[in-house]
Amino acid sequence: MSFHLTQILTGHGYFAKFLCRIGKRINTTCDFCGEDLDDVYHTLKDCPAWDPQRIRLKKELGLSRDFTLNDVVESIVNSLECRRAFSKFAEEVLREKEEEERHRERATTTSSPSIGNDETD
Ligand SMILES: [Zn+2]
Repeated sequence: MSFHLTQILTGHGYFAKFLCRIGKRINTTCDFCGEDLDDVYHTLKDCPAWDPQRIRLKKELGLSRDFTLNDVVESIVNSLECRRAFSKFAEEVLREKEEEERHRERATTTSSPSIGNDETD
C-alpha cells in the first residue's frame, strides 16, 4: 500500500481536520474550496477542487453517485486495477494538498517572526 493510499484510508494525512487535531492548524477549513470541514470524506467526495480526479476514479472503480469509503475499499481489495486507480487518485490529490500545506506553513512562519522562544512542544 502506498503512503498516500494509507493517508486516505486512515485519515491521518493532509486533511485540515487531522492537521487541526495534531495542532498543525487552527481550523478545519478546506484550503481549496473554503468548506468548513476538510476531512477524508470531503476530499474524496465533496471538494470541487478534485472533480476531475473524482470523475475518473468513479468511472474506473464503477462507483455509484453517492459512494462511500466502504465501496472504495471493497473495490480496491478485489481488484488490482481498482487499487491502482485509487492509488493514483490518492497520490495526485494528496500531493497537491501536501504542497499547499507547505506553502501555508512557509507563509505563516515568514509573516510572523517568532520573538522569543515560544515553542511548547
Ligand atoms: Zn474543499
